[in-house]
Amino acid sequence: MPELPEVETVRRVLMTDLNGLTILEIESNYEAMVDEDFKGFKDKLIGKSFKDIHRRGKFLIFELEDIFLISHLRMEGKFFYQRKEEPLNKHIHMVFHLSNGYDLRYQDTRKFGRMVTKTKEQLNTTEPLNHLGPDANGNVTVEYLLSKLKNRQIPIKEALLNQEIISGLGNIYVDEVLFTSGINPMKKSSDISIVDAKNILQNAKMILDKAIVYKGTTIRSYTSSLGVKGGYQDFLNVHTKTICPVCGKNITKIRVGGRGTYYCENCQK
Ligand SMILES: [Zn+2]
Repeated sequence: MPELPEVETVRRVLMTDLNGLTILEIESNYEAMVDEDFKGFKDKLIGKSFKDIHRRGKFLIFELEDIFLISHLRMEGKFFYQRKEEPLNKHIHMVFHLSNGYDLRYQDTRKFGRMVTKTKEQLNTTEPLNHLGPDANGNVTVEYLLSKLKNRQIPIKEALLNQEIISGLGNIYVDEVLFTSGINPMKKSSDISIVDAKNILQNAKMILDKAIVYKGTTIRSYTSSLGVKGGYQDFLNVHTKTICPVCGKNITKIRVGGRGTYYCENCQK
């Protein structure tokens, strides 16, 4: 599943490809992917030009003049920028024909991805962005994080995966952040100390920013679209690992909130 660094990488690549191009036509073989009437969706976007691409958490936000197209890639969603003549495969569910003879194509083998359009006024005041927490690599304060954790009995890993608390972290990077912070993923959220919270935020920013530099992580669950291969998998300390790089003891694998979770019992308390 793409997390903040992978989505940010997609944003940066698409920005150079799409800037200034106009949508001429939109075709879909799976209109249910759009969270609004498909004809209305098309009417709003056709004839509009790409002005910018933004990101909040794991959401991509395409700015098309006065309309914003929000896309969430979920598990397997990928964008491709390809010539119109290139053959389509059956997993491409949305095609935006562009003014330069290229297509923006959305492929999703599991069909979990979502798209919706918003006006500027609706963008941050309605679903899906209205309850989204601040970006995990932004300026989140210790006070904010602690205020969100103090009344929660759930494991800290689950709290950090909750996009309403902070956004952008998924299964891989939460494991890495908690390892680097020396915190057990099962530790109760309400037991997180000021020092813990400070470490979590510092390490989240450091790890996510470094992962963006390396264009994200490419492991079995996610290979990036657009011909970009991430390199951060070479820097993972604990996720999918068997031996702790700090103490040499075995890494433990458990499930937390239904997600495969890796940690070192010796280093993370
Ligand atoms: Zn260890």
